[in-house]
Amino acid sequence: MSYDVLPARSLSSGASRTMVDGFGRRIEYLRISVTDKCNLRCVYCMPEEGLPWLRRGEILTYEEIAGIVRVMAGMGLRRLRLTGGEPLVRKDLPRLVDLLAAVPGIEDIALSTNAVLLAPLARRLRDAGVSRVNISLDSLRPERADAIARRSGTLARILEGLDAAHAVGFDPIKINVVLMRGENDDEVAGFAELSRARPLHVRFIEVMPTESNLELSASGFLSCDEALARVAEVDALEPVPGPPGNGPATYFRFPGAQGTIGVITPMSHNFCSRCNRMRLTADGQLRPCLFGTMQTPLRDALRRGEPLQPLIDETLRVKPEKHLLVQGSSAGSGGLIALSQTGG
Ligand code: SAM
Ligand code: SF4
Repeated sequence: MSYDVLPARSLSSGASRTMVDGFGRRIEYLRISVTDKCNLRCVYCMPEEGLPWLRRGEILTYEEIAGIVRVMAGMGLRRLRLTGGEPLVRKDLPRLVDLLAAVPGIEDIALSTNAVLLAPLARRLRDAGVSRVNISLDSLRPERADAIARRSGTLARILEGLDAAHAVGFDPIKINVVLMRGENDDEVAGFAELSRARPLHVRFIEVMPTESNLELSASGFLSCDEALARVAEVDALEPVPGPPGNGPATYFRFPGAQGTIGVITPMSHNFCSRCNRMRLTADGQLRPCLFGTMQTPLRDALRRGEPLQPLIDETLRVKPEKHLLVQGSSAGSGGLIALSQTGG
């Protein structure tokens, strides 16, 4: 293992069942990427030709994922999110949820999905223990949604997935919209309107630069401040605490609306001081930060039957204070080609 940064302080205590990093942040939340593959090719995320996919034997089995979560739950982990790639392209995902829901200490399991495959799976996922979902949706216009996803027929299926999510009672349901000037910035007010009549939480996300989206993330960058200003032209916005969750969003609401409007500002307003998470990649790398080069391979140690806690402690110890992303440059992304590689 080699690391770029070694913060001076490192605290973790299995005895008190809390994980605290070198900057005093309590880490209770793990984002688990269950696959690097995806059925879409969103322009801001994956290259059109895809990526060099992981081989089957490189990917953690469901039992291996649950084994890692069991060790981390013993150290203080409480909440999980399944992500990818697209988590629903992995076969029989509800079986993984069954395993994770049975881990003592795990209180909350959420899912991030593009929702194209959600409708037929929603009930089984809910029954297995997924309590809430985040759905990616970048345009409410069918042709544009397809152009952004580089796949056809996406919007109708995503909206079916959204309806199914309501029907089975996922709560809250959050809609993630990646802001892109010249692509979907004229829909910001329309997306915000979705939060009025239904308990939907619409979150605008600033696009982050990776190796595969440098041009778009520079020329197409739109700040959340600008998006909020456009929404505020439609109606007054009041700051609100927002729905339950583990994320860095700041929330607002139209008067009397059932849902909220959130902003996630990795580029314009850094929120790393509130970071509460680590990430597990599909091939078993534990990452202390979405970006950067730091990661600890857990898979082979797990397969050799070696103890994982020292590796997890070490990852916690080197968690960096903040990401070093620079707009228009891949310098701070640590060579990441796409967020799908680390679970976004
Ligand atoms: N496929 C699932 C989905 O789209 O929700 C889960 C994985 S995706 C990588 C997780 C989140 O990352 C999505 O909300 C997506 O919009 C967001 N995302 C991907 N690339 C991004 C980028 N370069 N900047 C900002 N958000 C990004
Ligand atoms: Fe796939 Fe999600 Fe990336 Fe879109 S954002 S390409 S749906 S992983």
